[in-house]
Amino acid sequence: MAKKFACGDVVNGCAWSVTAKDEKELFQKISEHAKGVHKMSTIPDEIIQKVKSKIKDV
Ligand SMILES: [Zn+2]
Repeated sequence: MAKKFACGDVVNGCAWSVTAKDEKELFQKISEHAKGVHKMSTIPDEIIQKVKSKIKDV
């Protein structure tokens, strides 16, 4: 099942969202976005937990 994540659910005001075929690919895309846009070279555990709780099946 494909997975979807909207960055605005975790970061206020961010309009970026992503869909991927599985959670692994989703996290890859999220970490690229976090690095490029939010200047997080590594994503803190706390954020990963928040992200996980907001992932939806599509
Ligand atoms: Zn974002």
